[in-house]
Amino acid sequence: MKKFDIAIIGGGIIGLATAMRLAEGFPDRKVIVLEKEDDVALHQTGHNSGVIHAGIYYAPGSQKAGFCYSGNEELRRYCDDYGIKYEMCGKLIVATHDTEVRALEELHDRGVANGVPDLEVVGPERLREIEPHAAGVMALWSPNTGIIDYRAVSASYAERFVTFGGELSTSTEVLNIAATQEGVHIVTTKEEIYAAKLINCAGLQADQIAKHMDATNGLRILPFRGEFFSLKPEVARMVNGLIYPVPDPSMPFLGVHFTKRIDGTVEAGPNAVLSFAREGYRKTDFNIREILGILTYRGFWGMSKTHWLSGLEEQYRSWFKYKFVKSLQKLVPEISSQDIWRPSAGVRAQCVDRTGKLIQDFAIVERSNSIHVLNAPSPAATASLPISDHILTLVKESWDL
Ligand SMILES: Cc1cc2nc3c(=O)[nH]c(=O)nc-3n(C[C@H](O)[C@H](O)[C@H](O)COP(=O)(O)OP(=O)(O)OC[C@H]3O[C@@H](n4cnc5c(N)ncnc54)[C@H](O)[C@@H]3O)c2cc1C
Repeated sequence: MKKFDIAIIGGGIIGLATAMRLAEGFPDRKVIVLEKEDDVALHQTGHNSGVIHAGIYYAPGSQKAGFCYSGNEELRRYCDDYGIKYEMCGKLIVATHDTEVRALEELHDRGVANGVPDLEVVGPERLREIEPHAAGVMALWSPNTGIIDYRAVSASYAERFVTFGGELSTSTEVLNIAATQEGVHIVTTKEEIYAAKLINCAGLQADQIAKHMDATNGLRILPFRGEFFSLKPEVARMVNGLIYPVPDPSMPFLGVHFTKRIDGTVEAGPNAVLSFAREGYRKTDFNIREILGILTYRGFWGMSKTHWLSGLEEQYRSWFKYKFVKSLQKLVPEISSQDIWRPSAGVRAQCVDRTGKLIQDFAIVERSNSIHVLNAPSPAATASLPISDHILTLVKESWDL
């Protein structure tokens, strides 16, 4: 049986950033990344909006706020060093009605409290200068927001991990984990391995992995599908950068928005509907075991009680394209349903506790031989380097390596 000092489960951006940092920090230790797919970054990391967030939305003092703020800068420095393309195209958060102005001003204050530089509240004229096709009564302009391909970032982290001597084992699904006196015994589809320590970065499956080690802390991941459309090339030029609505502060999702991608295309979306499978990218994907897992979890019903109305609205927007287009028209009135095509989707892992509270901040749980990244939703891709530095600090403080 192969032996390792540390096994990391999950080859998404968090597992790979952590692997790279560990390989750099402990060059004489044997580290392996176990990834069930035949390549890295094929789930959340490969299906996201590709935005380098500035850190506006998050509660001051939270890990999300701190890690996003520093992650934005660290990520750009990393990309400069390793030749990864990104663009600081800026983001406009648009209040489309007077009733949203107060929330927009509060967002501005929150961004300032989080240290986000160069935030500017702008009126309709300046709004039109930045995004000539957007409409609103007021907007928040964030020039420190950008776009990137997180698959390229993940591939670079993986390459550096392997260069430092790490082992990346793809097509290797972890099936079972048993704690032993000295560490963990891991059964995979390829082989059985032994590791002194384990780091769980399994994204949408992180709670299932944590269960093996009694480390869920009562949290459960609920999968939320986010559906996108592309703008046809002839209308894509109506969008210069990122155009977002004022979000509902009680929800961790940001609302349907326009996102310029690093390849020049523009996407509209994503909405947020409960997915009937953790890795269900099509509306019709259905996993009966996972559905039963959701329906029998008390927290799901608690969440439904609080958020049933917004849940229904999102569902309605998912089934009826005209409703999706209506949300887009609030931001860019000229868009019509003929302008959007090529639907695609991503699935977000969102943690909920037993009472049904949506966990807003990152959640990283420690056990004596293991660390579990249980909640790493957006902006975790932006914050991948500070998250991995935080895990490295926990490893150094708690594990005698
Ligand atoms: C629609 C959408 C839009 C988003 N937009 C943004 C954005 O613009 N900016 C931003 O900063 N963040 C964004 N995010 C959030 C960001 O993408 C995620 O926070 C981040 O990708 C999480 O990375 P991860 O490594 O934790 O998870 P993942 O990328 O999901 O990786 C987990 C990996 O674990 C593997 N795995 C699971 N179970 C096992 C097992 N049993 N054995 C072996 N391997 C296993 C999976 O195959 C997967 O590769 C978005 C997310 C979504 C879904």
